[in-house]
Amino acid sequence: MDLSRQNSIILSITILTTFASFVKSSLPQGLQTLNISSEITTDPNITASFATDFGNLFNCTPGAVFFPSSPKDIATLIRFSYTSTTPFHISQRGLGHSAYGQTLVPDGILIDMSSLDRTNYNRINVTSNGPIPYADVGAEQIWIDVLNATLKHDLMPRLLTDYLSLTVGGTLSNAGLSGRAFMHGPQISNVYELDVITGTGEIVTCSKESNPDLFYAVLGGLGQFGVITRARIALEPAQKRVRWLELFYTDIKVLTSDEEKLISTGNSLSGIVDYLEGEVLFNVTQGLLTGSFNFSNSDVEKIVKLASENSGPIYLLNVVLFYNDTTATSVDQKVELLLKELHYTSGFAFSYDLPLFNFLNRLSFRVAATSSVAQCPWLVMLVPKSKVLEFGSKVYRGILNGFKGGRFFLLYPLNRAMWDDEMSAVTPNEEVFYRADFLWTSEAANETKSIAKKNKQIQNICEKYNFGCKEYLPHFTNQIAWQKQFGEKWEKFVSRKMKYDPKALLSPGQRIFTTLG
Ligand code: FAD
Repeated sequence: MDLSRQNSIILSITILTTFASFVKSSLPQGLQTLNISSEITTDPNITASFATDFGNLFNCTPGAVFFPSSPKDIATLIRFSYTSTTPFHISQRGLGHSAYGQTLVPDGILIDMSSLDRTNYNRINVTSNGPIPYADVGAEQIWIDVLNATLKHDLMPRLLTDYLSLTVGGTLSNAGLSGRAFMHGPQISNVYELDVITGTGEIVTCSKESNPDLFYAVLGGLGQFGVITRARIALEPAQKRVRWLELFYTDIKVLTSDEEKLISTGNSLSGIVDYLEGEVLFNVTQGLLTGSFNFSNSDVEKIVKLASENSGPIYLLNVVLFYNDTTATSVDQKVELLLKELHYTSGFAFSYDLPLFNFLNRLSFRVAATSSVAQCPWLVMLVPKSKVLEFGSKVYRGILNGFKGGRFFLLYPLNRAMWDDEMSAVTPNEEVFYRADFLWTSEAANETKSIAKKNKQIQNICEKYNFGCKEYLPHFTNQIAWQKQFGEKWEKFVSRKMKYDPKALLSPGQRIFTTLG
């Protein structure tokens, strides 16, 4: 598509969305006559509770909130807006774990997806007796409930996020990543089929074989092409326990070299670990380690000393092996091999054994402890392998030099071969790339401001030195930045938008085709 045609499409989408004329205090004309009107409220006490998200950075009350009883109700609402002479925005909200107002909709109706669960029981159905096990799950379901349902069949989703109280529809609209993604790809690579309601109100079942264009569009599609109402999730046999190794490093080069060895094929450590995530630790104090890890007091002292003797951050590699009763002996041998062949700092390997469920659900308590007023100006960069050391020296030892601590600066590699290029989700253009997270938490406005400045500096460094990074959970406020993020996929993204949501009704809070009012 030539640039002028592309620009006119973008412009026409913008114009179409500007005539959305939703009056906050009342429902759009005609909506009251629909059989779903009793499920929509403009009660300010209720709409106000949907005015922000986990990030707490944006605040904006929706015009109305819709509590659908069924996917059909959602189709009715979307079709009404689509065929109306005064269409309005519709935002499908999982549980609002976005950070930058992606689910907000000042001039329209917010769909509370979780209400599907309230009235529709049995929205998690496990099929374990066929050739391939899978679970059909409502998109409003959260991963912890999917896990619990599948464990009853000794099965589990092939890919779970680290935090499990996220909705299936929400993570499939992004990608869904964790320390198992190097072997299975993101969650969007582990879905067989979807039910989607498009921006014209059509209900479509799609998969790689049937309506593949819509299937791929929606996966990582940031809510732009339709509302997912059901997903068929790939399952695998669940093990019973895990062996969790925490290994400390003082050199990013040594850390990344070990990480890359563990995720690649054809070497002595290939296929040994079931989960791998590295972390960058700044200004390691007793406080940072206590409560976050299971270290003894003497371990904590040792680690703090290691960090204080090192200039710059230290690194923590989490490697985890899943096992059951019959494989317990071989897990011991594998751990022995890992400890022999990995190049962590001698004397700084710590090992735990725990039930699989406890490991998978380990973040629930920590996230629950996050203050509800905290702001989370998160940034997640996907960095090509060839640039990760330069990224490390310019960001961890440059911009963040002297940074006063905090957790969740993840740094771990992923294999691009596990991502399907047809999907909307974007990755850097190298076979191996790193996920580099800056999951900040701030309790004060001036702190948030200074973090935002750091985020900008990190983005600028990537830009200036042509690192070829992409962002995960992206947030941009202008179309040029979005175009850059999608790169070669932008044209397809735009043409899919024209096809499946031609009036740009859906998920306007992403600010790709319109701006928040
Ligand atoms: P929401 O934030 O409600 O929605 C996100 C976007 O998806 C919106 O644009 C919305 O319109 C759209 N959407 C929601 N539901 C649907 C649907 N059914 N159909 C179509 N579009 C829909 N991400 C990871 O990959 N791995 C992690 O381990 C991880 N851990 C996290 C831990 C915490 C504490 C938090 C706050 C976030 C974490 N995330 C993680 C990010 C998370 O994947 C995203 O925030 C995502 O938005 C999921 O949250 P949600 O289900 O509440 O969706």
